[in-house]
Amino acid sequence: MSSCEDRAEIPLSELISRLGRAVQCVQFTHGLNPAQWEALRYIARANRYSRTPSALAEYLGTTKGTASQTVKALEAKGYLERRQTAADRRVSRLELTDAGSKLLALDPLRRVEASLAHLELDVQDTLQQITDLFTGMQSACGMQAFGVCQCCARFEEGLSGSATEGPHRCGLTGEALSEADSARICVNFESEQSR
Ligand code: SF4
Repeated sequence: MSSCEDRAEIPLSELISRLGRAVQCVQFTHGLNPAQWEALRYIARANRYSRTPSALAEYLGTTKGTASQTVKALEAKGYLERRQTAADRRVSRLELTDAGSKLLALDPLRRVEASLAHLELDVQDTLQQITDLFTGMQSACGMQAFGVCQCCARFEEGLSGSATEGPHRCGLTGEALSEADSARICVNFESEQSR
């Protein structure tokens, strides 16, 4: 069987690279390309400081021009829109439209998730090991690490003093953070280890 021969001959690093290409391939669907799908996922997970084309460029490890083209394509298809912030009308943030949210429910990576569910893996252990590997590779190629707000060294739990805007506070901006914001990823994330 050629698949057995392949497995014996291909080093794990090469297999991961080829798997990456195959996962990219399944994302050419519903009229989107892999970068556009990744941008939709990112906007759905990112906090308010991070829903911008420049933060998207950092996340994708690409240029601002390329990220801007991705955003324009998604806007033209009606899946993303720019909304001005109430605090500063010069600032606009990217938001998913209803059509974008509905499309994301058809994310082709769900197919990959379903395949993974059939593997006999210790999911938590494997996730941690792959995350560590990914973080190392990201760092080696100079990509910025994004993290969840409530794990950030600047996250100030329960210190906002605001009953309306949210219980927590960002130590960088001094602004209140809601529970929802504290569970999102952020372009300004700082890990405890990097302090
Ligand atoms: S606490 Fe950290 S992750 Fe959260 S908004 Fe501030 S800088 Fe971003």
